[in-house]
Amino acid sequence: MYPVAVALLLLVGMAFFSYTMNNRIALLKMAKGKDFRFEKIPERVIALFTYAFGQKRMMNRKKEFWPGLYHAFIFWGFCILSIRTVTLFGQGFSPDFHLPGFGGALGNFYNLNKDIFTVLVFAGCTFFLVRRFITKPDRISLSIEGWAILFTIMGLMVTEWFYDGGQIALGHHTMDPLWAPVGTAVSKLITAFGWQPGTTHAVSISSYFIHLALILGFLNFLPYGKHFHIITSLPNVFMRNLKPYGALNPINLEDENITTFGIDKINEFSWKDVMDMYTCTECGRCTSQCPAYNTDKPLNPKQFLIEMKDFLVHHTDKIAQGTEEQKQEIYNTSLVPQVIEPEILWSCTTCRACEEACPVFIEYVQKIVDMRRHLVLMRGEFPAEAQATLRNIENNGNPWGIGFDERANWAKGMGVPSLAEKPEVDVLYWVGCAGSFDDRNKKVSTAVVKILQEAKIDFAILGPEETCTGDPARRIGNEYLFQTLAKTNIETMGRYKFKTVLAQCPHCFNTIKNEYPQFGGNFEVVHHTDYINQLMEQGKIKPVKNLDEKLTYHDSCYLGRYNDIYEEPRDILKKIPGVTYQDTELSKSTGRCCGAGGGRMWMEERLGDRVNHKRLDDLMAVEPQTIASACPFCMTMITDAARDKHIEVKTKDVAEIVAESLG
Ligand code: SF4
Ligand code: SF4
Repeated sequence: MYPVAVALLLLVGMAFFSYTMNNRIALLKMAKGKDFRFEKIPERVIALFTYAFGQKRMMNRKKEFWPGLYHAFIFWGFCILSIRTVTLFGQGFSPDFHLPGFGGALGNFYNLNKDIFTVLVFAGCTFFLVRRFITKPDRISLSIEGWAILFTIMGLMVTEWFYDGGQIALGHHTMDPLWAPVGTAVSKLITAFGWQPGTTHAVSISSYFIHLALILGFLNFLPYGKHFHIITSLPNVFMRNLKPYGALNPINLEDENITTFGIDKINEFSWKDVMDMYTCTECGRCTSQCPAYNTDKPLNPKQFLIEMKDFLVHHTDKIAQGTEEQKQEIYNTSLVPQVIEPEILWSCTTCRACEEACPVFIEYVQKIVDMRRHLVLMRGEFPAEAQATLRNIENNGNPWGIGFDERANWAKGMGVPSLAEKPEVDVLYWVGCAGSFDDRNKKVSTAVVKILQEAKIDFAILGPEETCTGDPARRIGNEYLFQTLAKTNIETMGRYKFKTVLAQCPHCFNTIKNEYPQFGGNFEVVHHTDYINQLMEQGKIKPVKNLDEKLTYHDSCYLGRYNDIYEEPRDILKKIPGVTYQDTELSKSTGRCCGAGGGRMWMEERLGDRVNHKRLDDLMAVEPQTIASACPFCMTMITDAARDKHIEVKTKDVAEIVAESLG
């Protein structure tokens, strides 16, 4: 049609795009951190179709359904229109051009779908414009970029319609008008308005060139803003984390070539971390779920990522084309506090609510812990209370600092053997520090023992040989202490024979199950809610006593979001005679954290409101008499909140409720 003009447009557009992408790729290459993500390809392909093409996470939450659906219309429309884009460029060189196979029935079918989707894409953009003008949800950034992109996409659809409509009106079309309902409708409008052929031709051809220019302009604009996710979200979803969520990456502390630990410089991140920065859509779903942000802490996960991306992109020239000296200037800049304030890092409870909400699988916890690692291991800068906790763990193997030899005192007189006394059993009952030393949680341990004895389980504890699993140390950032504890525990466990490790604390459960394999500790681990549920199903224990209580359940992040244990505790509670069970609105994967994870259990909460108070408000909305939980930290936090707020509600572990009902 106009080969020279189209060739020129393509040449200029693609040359500039290559230049920009070259710079963006240079930033990816700069990242030193290793992160291999090419295992489990079939699983990755399934995720790509489920979450990227299927847009599952955009629509799987009730509140987000409509925005998710309209976003899906735009996304699917773009996928379909990409074929049309190639065809339009091809028609610039040969008016009858079409992709192989798209000349006959398939072409007609394609045109019909293409027309339908242009309308759905336009409807989607209108929906988002209205949201920006009228409803303005807190979580979205009302940037000029957002407006510009929406109007550009709408412009693409309108020019598509007028190009097609004009061609059909002039009889030049390369498609069957019957299969192009929108183009045909526009051609009818043109006839109804009595446009002359010259006017129709001018409008149609102008639409064609405006359309091509908008496509190339759009493509070139993408890498400069949040809409870069249009290019990067597919690979980012494909490269999602397929390791257990609860397993933080280990540091090789024995590698003498490693001179710095954790992350403090932008080039210490991995290429996947940089991809995460590129891929953030700034939708704010993460922030809207973050317990720290929702209680006025300085942590806003979306902003955390944007700040680092802005820093990176701002220095593109120096990193991509600069001299070695200029590069080193950037690589020597500490991110903390220049870009990220330390309080932002210490506010995180590692609850994973952000990661679970993110439609493009951006990872936060590992980045935050990596940055904490640098503060702890390289600078020795961390909250004073956390220092005391780590010292207690170092000296006595528990955060309370109580003598390690007192660990089994809670079990005195209960007939609980230790592995030293009985080196071969079916079940190693891993009591954990809270169950061993905290007075309230010792009652949970007693309840677990009552259940095990009732079910005639062959079990034993490690007693004074058990030490902290290292979960708080690892999440606070002291990888050295964590690895020491992990190796000690693995060695101790290796001296005895047992089939299953029964853990009462979700943090112990997660660490032994998901992190100990990193150091050769491969054990079959089960959380007590799962185990008790199995005992009930096997008829080994039978709750008989009517408790006559209205209950709700608070999900522990390390049990639910980390290990997908949502139903087992609920199944148990629903089987207890006399229990009326009701979930709160924020439950299961959207459950709000109690505020204790990530070592926050051991730190003062000086900024903003208290997370546990907010969580108690969520739970009290269903007016329970008892709040059940399955984590010692959660129970402590909820109990403290009820005491602070003078609210009458009982707090019990699921095991205690079962033990009560055994009579
Ligand atoms: S892990 Fe939890 S506390 Fe940390 S940023 Fe994500 S949502 Fe916020
Ligand atoms: S990290 Fe994910 S959820 Fe958060 S703003 Fe970016 S895309 Fe949205």
